[in-house]
Amino acid sequence: MPDSTVFTARLDRVRRELAATGCDAVIVTPGTDLRYLTGLEGGSHERFAALVVPAARAPLLVVPKLEEPEYARMPTGDLRAELVAWQDGADPYRLVAGRLSDCRRIAVSEVMTARDLLALQDALAPVEFTARPVVGAVRIRKDAAEIDALRRAGQAIDRVHARMGEWLRAGRTERDVAADIAAAIVAEGHVRADFVIVGSGPNGASPHHEVSDRVIEAGDVVVVDIGGPMPDGYFSDSTRTYAVGEPRHPDVAVTYGVLQAAQQAAVDAVQPGVTAESVDAVARDAIAAAGFGEYFVHRTGHGIGLDVHESPYIVSGNTQVLEPGAAFSIEPGIYLPGRWGARIEDIVVVTETGVEPLNVRPHDLVVLESRSA
Ligand code: ZN
Ligand code: ZN
Repeated sequence: MPDSTVFTARLDRVRRELAATGCDAVIVTPGTDLRYLTGLEGGSHERFAALVVPAARAPLLVVPKLEEPEYARMPTGDLRAELVAWQDGADPYRLVAGRLSDCRRIAVSEVMTARDLLALQDALAPVEFTARPVVGAVRIRKDAAEIDALRRAGQAIDRVHARMGEWLRAGRTERDVAADIAAAIVAEGHVRADFVIVGSGPNGASPHHEVSDRVIEAGDVVVVDIGGPMPDGYFSDSTRTYAVGEPRHPDVAVTYGVLQAAQQAAVDAVQPGVTAESVDAVARDAIAAAGFGEYFVHRTGHGIGLDVHESPYIVSGNTQVLEPGAAFSIEPGIYLPGRWGARIEDIVVVTETGVEPLNVRPHDLVVLESRSA
């Protein structure tokens, strides 16, 4: 867990965000926003638990009595937060309402359950509620410790990709290959494998194919997209495309070259001050100019941190300006239905002057031996 000064600084930034967005408080239920602010994700077993951060007063941590020992691990003293435990039979929503009676507009975490939100709306009526991502807006701009954590995650997943030739061979099923990759993801330092996509041959043309019992054949192109959380909670996520022996389709080299150039151009376009959608456009325009526009069927990327998908989303229509500390994926793909597909994905961080890629494995199509020696 980071030093508690990290959390007090984050709370200060949240209060500034509240002021900037005209909200009087934010209510953060268990999840990664709570972990970001306190070091622990929390949990409540269906009972209401939340960190309440008013713009102008000390925070309040409202927890079920039986969860109190767990929540006592949060640095509430350093955060000058008051811990209030409620017993079964009491109404925690009325308790919160009593503390926020002077509020007119309250933000809630995006992952708050409908049950909690409806009960809070009832208890606090006529207060206006918004799911505007107050904590999310702060999380976009990552501090040096967070970028270090993402760097370590990137190195760990790069080590897994570096070993792909040990597992990815003709005659094995996607599922068997994925099991070996998942074990390596843990062996290289992750808490768990969060996702392992092994899309071989025609399956590679489905961007979110996971695994199947398809037997990998010599000549297949295989999309491998893998990642998971490290012990500190920060995620890795990286895709490389492999060929098992020389690719059987004659168009692979040229088409893959288009993708590789587009991905590199998008990475190179990242710098402070550019918009998220402009980075998407760089990748998309390059692919479209080569005639493959209709085969690039998803956004160029997503933010990453304590969640594997978070803001900023690198997508058309997102005019958000990228600032130093933003971390996100650049992962264009070309998917030829029924034939083969390819994707290249790196996590990058916006620096003061440009961009730092956190995945540094080669971007070329990696041709593996199709059979073990
Ligand atoms: Zn991925
Ligand atoms: Zn991704």
